[in-house]
Amino acid sequence: MKELSKTVQDLKPSGIRKFFDLANTMEGVISLGVGEPDFATPWHICENAIESMYDGKTHYTANRGLLELRREIAKFHREHYNQFYDPEDEIIVTVGGSEAIDIAMRALINPGDEIIVLDPNYVAYEPSILLAGGIPVHIQLTEEKEFKLLPEDLKNAITPKTKAIMINFPSNPTGGVMTYEDYEKLVPILKESGIYVISDEIYAELSFDQKFASLAQFKEVRDQIIVVNGFSKAFAMTGWRLGYTLSNKEVSQAMTKIHQYVIMSAPTAAQHAAIEALRNGYTDVLRMKEEYRNRRNLLVNRLNRMGLPTHMPHGTFYVFANIKKSGLSSDDFCEKLLSDQKVACVPGTAFGESGEGFIRISYAYSMDHIKTACDRIEIFLKKLGIE
Ligand code: PMP
Repeated sequence: MKELSKTVQDLKPSGIRKFFDLANTMEGVISLGVGEPDFATPWHICENAIESMYDGKTHYTANRGLLELRREIAKFHREHYNQFYDPEDEIIVTVGGSEAIDIAMRALINPGDEIIVLDPNYVAYEPSILLAGGIPVHIQLTEEKEFKLLPEDLKNAITPKTKAIMINFPSNPTGGVMTYEDYEKLVPILKESGIYVISDEIYAELSFDQKFASLAQFKEVRDQIIVVNGFSKAFAMTGWRLGYTLSNKEVSQAMTKIHQYVIMSAPTAAQHAAIEALRNGYTDVLRMKEEYRNRRNLLVNRLNRMGLPTHMPHGTFYVFANIKKSGLSSDDFCEKLLSDQKVACVPGTAFGESGEGFIRISYAYSMDHIKTACDRIEIFLKKLGIE
């Protein structure tokens, strides 16, 4: 038989999956690993999808998604984030934020183009770049700088081959956020270089301590930004597979070409659910956010008290705990924690080299679940001599 794609053969399996395959072979494991809300989708949202099916709305929609939904997305972003996009030709409804990232990369990249990624970063970015023929170039983020993107680092990373930078704030895995003032310093550099920014804002609603900010709020660079967002995290709708892009018309047209041939249109029932989510689901978002905030506070306080110096993440539902004190690598720490106390976390290195010395702990779990896991982590640390 002929050989499969070299690019695909060379892709590394996700460091998250690798670890969970191991955890799945064991009994009594308590996981703090998964990055999806433990809440079920609010029922009124599900009902709208069910009603749409009763009404026979079981056909394809426009390639870019139902105009009614795009109008709601435009309104939501205008009112909540000060982002202005035309529902007619600047918004595409996609199969999750995942498809949005993929079509953005494929619409931008010519073979050999450099795409800057922040390290540590969400596991899907580099594969999407490589599959589109691009070359990932890293900027290392540090805990001392709260895992923010600094202007000097951005400037140094840009070369004539740079096509775009991929960013994600609030960040998976670090929980780091950028403020309006932080972004303001990047704007002149972006403007001068003319590079695109793919801004994954899927955790926008989970900004706990400051108002969510976005580069798309700056008129000077607005046309260089491709915003990726979706319903998975804020509305607890991971299984519905619905996200979207916001961008200028030209980029949107290019991405629509890919989307129309590969996907046709996002699932129709899910689009009806999303309309209800945007119209009447905001109180649900706030309720879940409050619960995440309480869990974060409990988890970070406990980790600090048991001897792991952990900064307070300002967004998402992840804590990036510094385990350097243990003298173990991230991989070893997670493997030993799993075999000794049956608690599953994700090694920081699953998200890039800069994740060495950290573990990602998700708090998208119930308070009781988190407390039990913390008790076990405490026993594990005591055995390592950390108190
Ligand atoms: N971006 C980030 C940073 C994520 O954490 C996730 C999900 N884990 C996604 C995108 C993809 O989400 P979805 O495809 O469900 O919208």
